[in-house]
Amino acid sequence: MVRGLSIVFALAAAWGCSAPKETNQMQSLAEQYVKLVLAVGQHDPDYVDAFYGPEEWRKAAVKRPLADIDAEAGALASSLAAAAPAASADLLVQLRHRYVTRQLDALRARVAMLGGRKLTFDEESKALYDAVAPHHDEKEFAGILAQLDTLLPGHGSLLDRYTQFRDAYVIPPAKLEATFKAAIEACRSRTLAHVQLPPGESFTVEYVTGKSWSGYNWYQGNYRSLIQVNTDLPIFADRAIDLACHEGYPGHHVYNVLLEKTLVRDRGWPEFQVYPLFSPQSLIAEGTANFGIDVAFPPADRVKFEREVIFPAAGLDPSGAERYYEVMALVDRLSYAGNEAARRYIDGEIDAKAASAWLERYGLYAPARAAQRVKFVDQYRSYVINYNLGKDRVAQFIDARAGGDAAKRWTAFTELLSSPRLPSDLTVSASR
Ligand SMILES: [Zn+2]
Repeated sequence: MVRGLSIVFALAAAWGCSAPKETNQMQSLAEQYVKLVLAVGQHDPDYVDAFYGPEEWRKAAVKRPLADIDAEAGALASSLAAAAPAASADLLVQLRHRYVTRQLDALRARVAMLGGRKLTFDEESKALYDAVAPHHDEKEFAGILAQLDTLLPGHGSLLDRYTQFRDAYVIPPAKLEATFKAAIEACRSRTLAHVQLPPGESFTVEYVTGKSWSGYNWYQGNYRSLIQVNTDLPIFADRAIDLACHEGYPGHHVYNVLLEKTLVRDRGWPEFQVYPLFSPQSLIAEGTANFGIDVAFPPADRVKFEREVIFPAAGLDPSGAERYYEVMALVDRLSYAGNEAARRYIDGEIDAKAASAWLERYGLYAPARAAQRVKFVDQYRSYVINYNLGKDRVAQFIDARAGGDAAKRWTAFTELLSSPRLPSDLTVSASR
């Protein structure tokens, strides 16, 4: 890490010296933003998801009152507004300015929340993630549940039948490592066929317990990630490719590596050395990580690969792969039921027990998984929208540029991973 950072700052310094005045000013404002993120991290242990900038910045981030942080953030917002680039400036320079400005707004919202301000689920997601998830009525999930009811005949409730069906597709613990290894290798080689990554990038995988999430990428800087996989609950066959793509290639690991390469090292922009979890960046991060699964494994291709590689690695009967993915494609369409449960729960309309019941009934979560999800909502609140709404927004953005062309899809996807886009940028016209 030390070796990598010395390169970063040598580049930043060299670039800064010859840069125009307004660029130097933006560098200084961006540095202030990073230091404010680190300061908020003193109040909120989940806030700073990654930081690989100068160690002295981290050490200097002592705990100070939230009101002081907000006052500094307010002053920085004014300085940023005064430093807006000209309309003729390079697109990336304009995106950078908009991005830091919006990330800082989200920081102030998080500071207000930490100070006790109450926001509704939708107000919170707008303030923190620059997006509001659509509302869905219970009835809207009925059609999908009816189709699943036909696909999964037998006795007992639909949830019981689905749970029993899915239990036949658990990866045995003894086969977990080999199955993930096969999945990671495939995700990596498919990604490297289209995305140029710097030499030396890699990650390590750890198996952990006692978490509210199922997998997590901790980016360390210097093109390295630590990926943790939670084994509290049995892991199903689909999670191998999902997690390997989402956390690794072409998901979080690749996103962080490309930001470090193109924005931190090549341009010397310090603000990308920090990742505040409760910020618009998370919708882009989770959305690209989820959409990246489909980019690397378009659905028909995915079933073939599962049948030929993943199911055999996991010791599962490959003849069941097609049916499994037919069912899972329908269950995936229930994902917005998870947002509804979280919205009602955060807004105080239902309690934790009722939120679990909602997830079981409309999202087909088995009881233990519903309880884990409610724990996740307790910890991360409206963050849940970043996964499904994020994926849908990213899909719209990429499809508008690439249509059905697979190579163009990879190009548009890589460009998105390498640029400072905001969630609200994803819904604007395809020409930008
Ligand atoms: Zn993720």
